[in-house]
Amino acid sequence: MSNLLGAVEIREIAEQLNLKPTKKLGQNFVVDANTCRKIVKLAVVQSTDIALEIGPGVGSLTLALLEKAIQVVAVEIDDRLANQLPITAANHGFDSKKLVVINQDAMQINKLPVEPTVLVANLPYNISVPVLLNMLQLFPSIDRGVVMVQSEVAHRLAAKPNSKEYGSPTAKVNWWADLELAGSVSRSIFWPIPNVDSSLVKFVRHKPIGNEQDRIATFSVIDKAFAKRRKMMRSAVSVLFNDAEESLIAAGVDPTLRGEALDIGKFYQIGQQLIKHNSTK
Ligand code: SAM
Repeated sequence: MSNLLGAVEIREIAEQLNLKPTKKLGQNFVVDANTCRKIVKLAVVQSTDIALEIGPGVGSLTLALLEKAIQVVAVEIDDRLANQLPITAANHGFDSKKLVVINQDAMQINKLPVEPTVLVANLPYNISVPVLLNMLQLFPSIDRGVVMVQSEVAHRLAAKPNSKEYGSPTAKVNWWADLELAGSVSRSIFWPIPNVDSSLVKFVRHKPIGNEQDRIATFSVIDKAFAKRRKMMRSAVSVLFNDAEESLIAAGVDPTLRGEALDIGKFYQIGQQLIKHNSTK
């Protein structure tokens, strides 16, 4: 018998908990063990890894992670699911010491009892981007990961400059990591079946681009650059600088370009000009 959860058991657990999956919490559970194993494999989870999972739900992916990682830290907002998870793991023969369940809103987390090395999650759809950004910012020990998100979001996260999908989330996530699409996931492997498609995104953390002051300056430039996509940079960042055109040229950026043409390296350079500008005010 597989160690992992199947469709029948997932429904039984939900019934036992009197759980009606809600849209508000993005509760679409993966009922296919092969997909869970595939995700864990894509993230190259090894016996030395401490995996962080956001929104473990009934535990499909959690059990697949427990098969490979030394420890799994799972953050779940729903009390019933959080309380049930260690029981399900034990029923499937996993050592309870390997699983740490944190019954909290992932958006409120600012520390963890261990340092995770890999993030693997089927993210709640309404907070997928902020959660990913927060986890990358809060836990520098995470060096890679695979997340499942709505396909539209996946394409935005993995977009390259000069494409219509490229935007503020892409530029921001690129502050920490390089991302790539890692395949789409059929709707039929979820219960309940969602009305949007999902895709996997794989990421690898790269060397830090700058410190926290640099990041804050860079992100304020990114926010302005994408607030009105059609604006040229010289007008988009004019609220930040006395002489935006001069500052952009000093950053090595053509002032007539739009934000969508700039990679994170260029945003960083403009951020450096902003720090300089603000320090001489
Ligand atoms: N990982 C499970 C799976 O693949 O079957 C469930 C994924 S489901 C898409 C999202 C899960 O995130 C649900 O269990 C939901 O209760 C949980 N969730 C929603 N919002 C959350 C939040 N703010 N913090 C932590 N968990 C959250």
